[in-house]
Amino acid sequence: MAKIILFDFDGTLFNSKKLAAEMANEWEKNCHISLQVTESVFNNYSSSLTASLDFNPEDFIISLSQETNVDREKIAAVLQQEWLYQEAIFDQADKILVTLKKKYQLGIFSQGVGSWQKLKMEKSRLLPLFEQDLLFITRRKTTLEFLQTLPEDSVIIDDNLAVIEDLVKFGKFKVFWIDRYGNQQMNFKEVQRVTSLAEFVTKLEN
Ligand SMILES: [Mg+2]
Repeated sequence: MAKIILFDFDGTLFNSKKLAAEMANEWEKNCHISLQVTESVFNNYSSSLTASLDFNPEDFIISLSQETNVDREKIAAVLQQEWLYQEAIFDQADKILVTLKKKYQLGIFSQGVGSWQKLKMEKSRLLPLFEQDLLFITRRKTTLEFLQTLPEDSVIIDDNLAVIEDLVKFGKFKVFWIDRYGNQQMNFKEVQRVTSLAEFVTKLEN
């Protein structure tokens, strides 16, 4: 059976910060909501959450509509624009995944609100590149219970050092850390550090 690779989504395959910035631009253009207003509604909404990964666009849209009196449907329409998601893919991840898919079974190891994670995967058109039974998506992904559901000996790539640390402690996986900005120290000898998906592919083959 082909070896399994599980990809973190946000920050590894997908630039969620770029998506958020582009959406704010679209709300300004299409709904005349200034960037400052979007940012301040976002900050207020975020401070009501336990963690940023509890972000739910449907709730955010309700807040933005209430604060601006702009029709909710009009704000929500921006969320449906596929090109926003396609432009937020890192490193031509789609092409790299298509190549890897010839040799490996590809899956997802992601955390957040499930419907939002799935929407980003669908609209970016990355979702069909993964095996249906290898989509590991939950609100908090490093709990022991959840890690136990992942196939042993999977390769896992993630950008979050706290997640990397939990994966190392758990053992049972071959872990890659994607450090896109190169500004953090990492002391795990068993983890391979890469700065791009292309470098990941090179190191994977060696
Ligand atoms: Mg991430």
